Amino acid sequence: MIDADVIVGLEVHCQLDTKSKLFCGCSTDYRDDGPNTHVCPICLGLPGTMPALNKRAIEYAMKVAKALNCTIVPESEFSRKNYFYPDLDKAYQITQYDKPLAQGGYVEIEGDDGKERKIQLTRIHVEEDPGRLVHMGNAERGRYSLVDYNRAGIPLIEIVSEPDMRSPKEARKFLNKLRATLEYLGVFDSEKEGSLRVDANISLRGNERVEVKNITSYKGVEKALTFEVTRQKNLIRRGLPVERETRHYLEARGITQSARSKETENDYRYFPEPDLRPLRVQSWVKDIALPELPDARRERFVTQYSCSLNHARTLTGELKMANFFEGVVSGDRAGLCSLAATWIADTLAGELNYRNMGIDCVDPHRFGSLLAILRAGTITDKSGVEVLRVMLDEQLKGETVETPEAIVARLNLAKTAGDDGALAAAVKEVISENPKAIEDYKAGKNGAINFLVGQVMKKTRGRADPGELNRLVVAALKDGGQ
Ligand SMILES: [Zn+2]
Repeated sequence: MIDADVIVGLEVHCQLDTKSKLFCGCSTDYRDDGPNTHVCPICLGLPGTMPALNKRAIEYAMKVAKALNCTIVPESEFSRKNYFYPDLDKAYQITQYDKPLAQGGYVEIEGDDGKERKIQLTRIHVEEDPGRLVHMGNAERGRYSLVDYNRAGIPLIEIVSEPDMRSPKEARKFLNKLRATLEYLGVFDSEKEGSLRVDANISLRGNERVEVKNITSYKGVEKALTFEVTRQKNLIRRGLPVERETRHYLEARGITQSARSKETENDYRYFPEPDLRPLRVQSWVKDIALPELPDARRERFVTQYSCSLNHARTLTGELKMANFFEGVVSGDRAGLCSLAATWIADTLAGELNYRNMGIDCVDPHRFGSLLAILRAGTITDKSGVEVLRVMLDEQLKGETVETPEAIVARLNLAKTAGDDGALAAAVKEVISENPKAIEDYKAGKNGAINFLVGQVMKKTRGRADPGELNRLVVAALKDGGQ
């Protein structure tokens, strides 16, 4: 739905996938380890410690800036953002304030009207992640909270967009494109918990702006914004004002809730970080090389493999899916391109989504074998889906995954040949069992044919070729109809 009155801007925090933290040598690989096991005096901000900037993190941030068409500024600066919160033990966060690393830029998305749209960016800056609170019970009524500083000091970039999006769906597309770009760059792992957090600003034209803080899932952003559009429209319809406020998104309930007023008062005191010198990166810019990015790969898929634009978009929207597709059609399987595009983008993606599985669970070579027997006409499309489901279910249960050929043999799924008698017998059976349909057919109701074809399909468990079956049913009706 296009709604000219909806105005959305996003602030996206992404963890950069470096080996060590932004200002110390602590490992960033903390997720499977106990709390406070990846900390040192520097990332805990103990008195007398000095931060030392991680060059790799800055290079990663510069890659992102370049890929998103931003201007990388010759000299940027770090500041201390002072606030008191238990996950920030030193009571300030090192971030960039009035001199960010990069300005401007844009992300190109397919707008709700189907046309390419450029969502303008304001800035990209670098900062350290604070720690993490673990509430025992819930945030409102928990008896106590635990603080884990393993996350403190992980390098983040904050990408701030202009209020350029016109619907919750466009916001979702913006995020998807951003994620794909960051993954193609090899600087971000979207599968890591908490690697992306979004603050969304939303208003309806002419009304106050609401900020929804700390949304941690891609779907969550679209849902939270959709909720806000409805909530704000209802207020306006009832003649009530939309308050300028900060709200939280409650993922489990799919609603936003007003934050306690104290949290809405942002009274940060910024001042330049005295322990870090200004960051001068001009001489590095020329060494920042970019790989093939999603848009370029999408266009290549259209020209090289003759994919439809929609399929190319789906296939290149995730790095792993794009790699999987190229893995399937590599070598002597180039002839499978169009079949592969359809089966991966439509069928496989849906089946994986249903099982909450990633595409890296699937062996591209084995999937290619399935496509090969489909193309050879050994099985029908319907049986192909059945074989795929068996393969995925076996994978999910941790069983040995059979080859497609073995599954076809075990479940007797090979296409019934029109001349092997079995199909003809099934047709005969169905016709004798359904005198009413035959009367209908004689009365000129052609829908009766579809019904009979469906009945035979059921009997042969989808193994019959639909075209062939149709021909046989029509022929049988003509005989029986004499
Ligand atoms: Zn440390």
